[in-house]
Amino acid sequence: MQKEPIFLSQKELDEQIWAMAAFQAVEDRPRSFHIVTYGCQMNAHDSEKLSGMLVRMGMAETEDRRHADLVIFNTCCVRENAERRALGNVIWLKQLKNEKPNLLIAVCGCMIQQPHMAERILKQYPFIDLAFGTHNLYRLASLLLELADKKHRVISVSPEENMIAEGLPVKRLNDYKAYVTVMYGCDNFCTYCIVPFVRGRERSRRMEDILREAEKLQKSGVQEIMLLGQNVNSYGGGKDFPKLLKALDGIGIPRIRFMTSHPKDLSDELIGVMASGKNICNNLHLPVQSGSNAVLKAMNRGYTREQYMERVQALRSVVPDIGITSDFIVGFPGETEEQFMDSVSLVDAVGYDAAFTFIYSPRVGTAAAKLKAQVPAEVSAERIRRLIQAVEQSTARVHQSLIGSTEQVLVEGVSKRSRTMVSGKGRRNITVTFAGDTRDTGKLIQVKINAAAANTLRGERVTTE
Ligand code: SF4
Repeated sequence: MQKEPIFLSQKELDEQIWAMAAFQAVEDRPRSFHIVTYGCQMNAHDSEKLSGMLVRMGMAETEDRRHADLVIFNTCCVRENAERRALGNVIWLKQLKNEKPNLLIAVCGCMIQQPHMAERILKQYPFIDLAFGTHNLYRLASLLLELADKKHRVISVSPEENMIAEGLPVKRLNDYKAYVTVMYGCDNFCTYCIVPFVRGRERSRRMEDILREAEKLQKSGVQEIMLLGQNVNSYGGGKDFPKLLKALDGIGIPRIRFMTSHPKDLSDELIGVMASGKNICNNLHLPVQSGSNAVLKAMNRGYTREQYMERVQALRSVVPDIGITSDFIVGFPGETEEQFMDSVSLVDAVGYDAAFTFIYSPRVGTAAAKLKAQVPAEVSAERIRRLIQAVEQSTARVHQSLIGSTEQVLVEGVSKRSRTMVSGKGRRNITVTFAGDTRDTGKLIQVKINAAAANTLRGERVTTE
């Protein structure tokens, strides 16, 4: 049962809009900003919201952080590596602040939402001016106003976790594809995962708000939307996601994707909508995490290997050309060699297009971090090498099978490797390169595939839509 969200009231929204305008009257206010984003698409979209508010406050975005008056680190805490990288970069800014004393440094997002990290950052990094957690993002304008007024650091980490803020400005990264958040938080409490502790319980946006946003995007010429949620297919408690997807499909945006889906919420109704939808892309990211039932149980994933395979087969029976991608964790506490090999065999059994593979990273506050039988680092490192090899073989098989097919590609720009080639994603979410130039960016182009490389497909243009 999802928690009833509290929607930001009109009065609170007006206060934030007022703070954005009032900030422009501050004499020595920052004029430029730079945001460094770590982590997932949810964070990338949060950064678009931060940018939108800062632009409304009269600031301009700069690509070079050395030229910015305000630098924001939007952090991730899903793995220790991401935290380490963020903290390393924050220290680098200390030097910049010595040269440029008016520079403002802000840290926000998931890392700050963890009490032990917030405490550590505040003690060990006194040069940070502003820190705010995931639940306080919408208050950026009033926090900056408070900082300008008091001239001492401002910290805002609220435990309030079921707020949904509609109506804030957004500055999107590009104008042909867009993120649309449909739900926030997660109730699943996988034993290794910190997300429910830093993003709060599941809560869903109102369907009418999502549809209104999508209609606006369609009118502005957006070609693809990505629906976002930590557990996107549990939108409205799971029962409403097929209805939402069907309604969005009718709006006429040519491509719709969604992530991240939980296998337990991949219902027959949702599979039916995916099969009948005109604009829903034939790609599903369906994290499995392990191929071993014992490990899945210890992870509290809520399904068995057999149930996962049954869902994959049900989907493939009605969407035969669906491309499935996944996430795997190796070295979960207590994972034996045999259990690890169950993950390798699952890669072959499913035939994934691609998969992200991670070494288990203990997170303070999660149930798995307390387990005694941690797998030695060298064992995990060796296992992940073998798993990556299995995934690469699976990807190669899929890529080979697509030679001769025609893919609809949304061009993202000139290829990094050659100025005469462009690249973009096919509907199956595989990168495709072909001859073209910057005029193709943002267009949908039919491409005949004639070669396959490890991570990309190559082809030649057939038609532009
Ligand atoms: S489903 Fe599990 S892994 Fe995904 S966000 Fe929720 S707790 Fe984390």
